[in-house]
Amino acid sequence: MQKKPFLTLEQAQNIIKDYKTPFHLYDEKGIRENARRLNKAFSWNKGFKEYFAVKATPNPYLLKILKEEGCGVDCSSLSELIMSEACGFSGADVMFSSNVTPEEDMQKAYDMGSYINLDDYNFVPFLKRVCGVPETVFCRYNPGGIFSLSASEDGVQVMDNPGEAKYGMSEDQMAQAFVELKEAGAKHFGIHAFLASNTVSNDYYSELAGVLFELAVRLKEKTGVHIAYINLSGGIGVDYKPDEPSANIEIIGENVRKKFEEILVPNGMGDVSIFTELGRFMLAPYGALVSTCLHQKHIYKEYLGLDACAADLMRPAMYGSYHHITVLGKEDEPCTCKYDVTGGLCENNDKFAIDRMLPKVENGDILFIHDTGAHGYSMGYNYNGKLRSAEILLCEDGSHKLIRRAEKLDDYFATFDFTDDFKFNTK
Ligand SMILES: *Cc1c(COP(=O)(O)O)cnc(C)c1O
Repeated sequence: MQKKPFLTLEQAQNIIKDYKTPFHLYDEKGIRENARRLNKAFSWNKGFKEYFAVKATPNPYLLKILKEEGCGVDCSSLSELIMSEACGFSGADVMFSSNVTPEEDMQKAYDMGSYINLDDYNFVPFLKRVCGVPETVFCRYNPGGIFSLSASEDGVQVMDNPGEAKYGMSEDQMAQAFVELKEAGAKHFGIHAFLASNTVSNDYYSELAGVLFELAVRLKEKTGVHIAYINLSGGIGVDYKPDEPSANIEIIGENVRKKFEEILVPNGMGDVSIFTELGRFMLAPYGALVSTCLHQKHIYKEYLGLDACAADLMRPAMYGSYHHITVLGKEDEPCTCKYDVTGGLCENNDKFAIDRMLPKVENGDILFIHDTGAHGYSMGYNYNGKLRSAEILLCEDGSHKLIRRAEKLDDYFATFDFTDDFKFNTK
């Protein structure tokens, strides 16, 4: 399928009059429509709730939009909890799925009345010591071994290696944890697992659901606890490449429903609420990095040099990820030129694309780097003294709104505010 930007050249020029590139831009309309589709696809489950994985895109304005669409938040750190609290999330609106958790983070999650999801059996005594055991508590499962799905109907392979992953606990540890948590006063229990990331197969989520539903039945039999919640976590992917299949949320919801009817209902567990903790699926396609071509060079290859760099979008440098690029205003021109599209870091992996066919680019052209709405801005950093970009919302009515200002030099130097030994001239 052809990938179309949610922004025209004219709209981009309009925004750039107010805020210079580079910036991450988010599409409010797309975000809302997608959230509604997800909620509808799971509306067969009475207690269904999506807890948006805050780490994917920690911006309070975006969290508020998702809140208006009925979503909660999934946090993994103190700062994410505090941001969520500031947006009005509390109690059952907050999942706390952390690992290697500091005491103060756990205490904050407890104080907010969050659903705490324990990553390890040793977190049972830790929880008791730090804050006490809440009425509702989750445990994260790791089945070990290899999780693979090769014979899926849509032909999309899924493969991941839980046995090598640091997360979660074994079934025996979970059973033991549930018994001890119940003794300590917990009344309602949840289970959670994250087995594979960025899956575009429509069968991954239902396969995971099957694993968790069967586990829930066994745990209930073994320990006698009331399992009220099953959290399918994140992992539904998006089509970063134009020719990639994309996950169909209606089919995914229906496939999970079938497993629910098949496994939980006959075991008297039809009251279980299904939770999701999607990050990428909720936002990736509805964000883009908008950047201007500053320079071009020709040596042994052709290079475009952008005002954005890997500090604004780390995924290509870190994982070799593909992000589609559209040159705004040249959507219909033939892609006749082969470029490496680079940023200005002193690192040769600072490339948004390698050997990418694009229309002929001129300095000053505006490039739209697709699908940066999740794990984009949030993974940014300050290497080479690069300042973090702004985030802007393209509102439903076509207007635009600053939702995070760009970093200034004073921000960069702010962590030296404890000393008078240096003077930084930021004017
Ligand atoms: C990262 C993460 C998510 C979200 O993952 P996506 O791939 O963005 O959907 C959900 N839950 C937990 C615990 C995570 O660490």
